[in-house]
Amino acid sequence: MQIRNEGEKRTRAAADIVTAVEQDILAGVRLPGERIDESALAETFNVSRTPVREAILELAAMGLVDQRAHRGAFVADVTLEEIFDVYEVLAELEGLCARLATRRMEAVERRALADLHAEMAGLLSPDDRDRYIALDMRFHDMLIAAARNAALKDHLALCLRRIAPVRRTSMELVRDMRLAHAEHGEIIAAISAGDAAAAERIMGEHVSLRAEQAKDLIARWKTRRNAATQSSAGQAAA
Ligand SMILES: [Zn+2]
Repeated sequence: MQIRNEGEKRTRAAADIVTAVEQDILAGVRLPGERIDESALAETFNVSRTPVREAILELAAMGLVDQRAHRGAFVADVTLEEIFDVYEVLAELEGLCARLATRRMEAVERRALADLHAEMAGLLSPDDRDRYIALDMRFHDMLIAAARNAALKDHLALCLRRIAPVRRTSMELVRDMRLAHAEHGEIIAAISAGDAAAAERIMGEHVSLRAEQAKDLIARWKTRRNAATQSSAGQAAA
């Protein structure tokens, strides 16, 4: 059974690599267009190239990584147009989530949401931004869960994965966390009042890219992507 054990070990290593790279992409540590260095990953995880390739295949199937013939693997690129398209859909879907959650949320879930909101109130200074961003994702996930609609959840997951690399960047652009936090408060109030239409509208506005934010996003996105593409070109040439 030696062979089987080896195989299991390799698969576990591949799963660890998938998780690590996925987290890096979601956190904006690895940027769209950036080359994924297979030998560096093999070294970091102390494994051969086989589980690394297995991991890359899986990440490609998830849509997070592009494989290019003779050039290697790259963090999936997203165009600005695509980002705006996805945000439009996302605003509608998250609005729908809030509407359904208003009707379907259990009391215990409402309390958990209110507790989370209270915790986030203490994280509005720029120093706490990372923690706030993490909890913001949890806030939205709680409403997705409370909507109790598997199809909606799947569509949202698809959208979120598509813009995963910029989600963090877009959160960084929220100049005033107090505004975003106040909107969460309004969503909670609408849910408590049983006002599904208001919950839907406020959530839709909360998720939409605001005009000034969109302009900043374009600027920052171009800078980051150029930096990522240049460093990838350097790595490829090396
Ligand atoms: Zn939010």
